[in-house]
Amino acid sequence: MTATLSEMDENTTVVIVGAGVAGLTLGIFLLHSGIDCVIVEKRSR
Ligand SMILES: Cc1cc2nc3c(=O)[nH]c(=O)nc-3n(C[C@H](O)[C@H](O)[C@H](O)COP(=O)(O)OP(=O)(O)OC[C@H]3O[C@@H](n4cnc5c(N)ncnc54)[C@H](O)[C@@H]3O)c2cc1C
Repeated sequence: MTATLSEMDENTTVVIVGAGVAGLTLGIFLLHSGIDCVIVEKRSR
């Protein structure tokens, strides 16, 4: 089941797969919008 942005609240946690530019940028936008997120990355750098 997919939630739209309007359905999300501060209790919604988004899982972002990949800590590349796109993943990190999305994480910043979500956190600035008050939406919690977790970023998972397969590679250690
Ligand atoms: C050889 C090369 C040189 C480049 N040089 C430049 C340059 O000089 N300047 C420039 O602006 N752009 C350059 N680019 C392009 C740039 O790298 C990409 O446009 C940019 O990195 C894309 O960002 P992204 O976040 O979409 O993907 P990525 O940066 O690829 O990030 C995706 C992340 O997701 C992770 N991932 C993938 N699958 C999983 C999984 N199943 N579970 C967990 N994590 C996962 C990967 O490990 C990676 O860290 C270059 C690309 C290449 C291939």
